[in-house]
Amino acid sequence: MRPPSLLGLLPSELEALARELGASAYRGRQVATWLYRKGVLDLDAMTDLPREFRERLRERARIGLPAVERVIPSRDGSQKFILRLADQGRVHSVLMPDEDRLTLCLSTQVGCGFACAFCHTGTMGIERNLGVDEIVGQLLLANAALPPHQRVTHLVFMGMGEPLANYANTVTAIRILTDARYGLGYSPRRITVSTVGLVSGIEKLAREELGVNLAISLHATTDAVRERLMPVNRSWNLDALLGAVRRFPLPTRRRIFFEYVLLDQVNTSLDDARRLASLLRGIRAKVNLIPFNDWEGAEFRRPPLSTILAFQSVLLDAGITTTVRWSKGEDIGAACGQLSEPLERAVG
Ligand code: SAH
Repeated sequence: MRPPSLLGLLPSELEALARELGASAYRGRQVATWLYRKGVLDLDAMTDLPREFRERLRERARIGLPAVERVIPSRDGSQKFILRLADQGRVHSVLMPDEDRLTLCLSTQVGCGFACAFCHTGTMGIERNLGVDEIVGQLLLANAALPPHQRVTHLVFMGMGEPLANYANTVTAIRILTDARYGLGYSPRRITVSTVGLVSGIEKLAREELGVNLAISLHATTDAVRERLMPVNRSWNLDALLGAVRRFPLPTRRRIFFEYVLLDQVNTSLDDARRLASLLRGIRAKVNLIPFNDWEGAEFRRPPLSTILAFQSVLLDAGITTTVRWSKGEDIGAACGQLSEPLERAVG
């Protein structure tokens, strides 16, 4: 087995590791501060640690940062990071600047097992879960690529994979990201976890008291259509899903986000829009309409602008905050649902 990576450890676990190595817990906190607060990823640069302790750390663990294979810039300013993992697997993360925000879209799995019909990642199947180190590492790499005084401001778990299907690692990564003392210190309000609608995971997440935002990939207003688009609907239908959402504890002034991909002639009628408004009645909701992002071989099309705007109007008229997400990074295959393994994937 490979040695554990430091980046996969909570500050409290780094303290325990330091004690195991015969040092004080304080040494563990120092390591956490270097890694997470200062983004220093080289043991030799951790100058206030005794050399002997560093040697013992090196024998027992590795830092565990994925390698950046390529960074592809988009015309709209976003950047796709293609990361190579220790076992040669690849994942992508996407950095998207937007006015005063710098949002990073994180992956949680290599591939995805949920096979949503409109999603390119879904055609890959699932290879494996990412480790905590590989999730946190995506952020550290993005921050390291930015100019010194800048860092990622918002995090969305909307890259490859289903975060709630890699539940434990996603939650631990979030604890490291939000630990204000020795972790990365991100406010949970700036973190959004997006799910296909795994009710069991939503219910567990509700009990964690993480305070992160929840986004639901809804995409349909009837079970018949949703089943066709998202096989997960056979396990948890709209009723079960919206029930779990209604029970999700929401801090004051916070909302649940609903993503709704617009697929021409499939889910974009005015009746759909009206049904959507009525499904969301009583939920503090914000809807994000995502015009379908095309990929080769897809059986769907993006609807015309007039359809998109008409759909949005119905929701706005019903008093539901609704935005259209004009995707970033489309020209580099980095938009929602376009992330996947290049076909010429290297072997071994
Ligand atoms: N598994 C999680 C997060 C990953 S996908 C989830 O399903 O929520 C992030 C969002 O992009 C989801 O709402 C997903 O349904 C949407 N998406 C996937 N493929 C898309 C495509 N081709 N065009 C537009 N949105 C897409």
